[in-house]
Amino acid sequence: MFDLTPRPWMTKAACAKEENEYMRDTWHEASENTAVGLRQIKELEAICATCPVLAECRDLADIAEMSKTGKWRENIHGIYGGETVSKRRARREKAA
Ligand code: SF4
Repeated sequence: MFDLTPRPWMTKAACAKEENEYMRDTWHEASENTAVGLRQIKELEAICATCPVLAECRDLADIAEMSKTGKWRENIHGIYGGETVSKRRARREKAA
């Protein structure tokens, strides 16, 4: 089971300091299928690009999505480490 305990590095997260309404949502939901979602994704990616804990965040998303079988579950949503679900999938496929 994935450990949901907040990590100490999360206090340094750029998104923890943002005033954007959707950044207060810990899931950072933003649809890749709507114009509004695509605009939000651009804004979120810009925030992530300034984040001092981007690598830690990306690693945590990878851990959260790893199943016991070693295959990716991809059942978390939203942007983590500057990546949408589809970008995470593409990175993993490239690394495989
Ligand atoms: S990389 Fe992005 S989603 Fe992750 S903690 Fe930083 S700002 Fe938040």
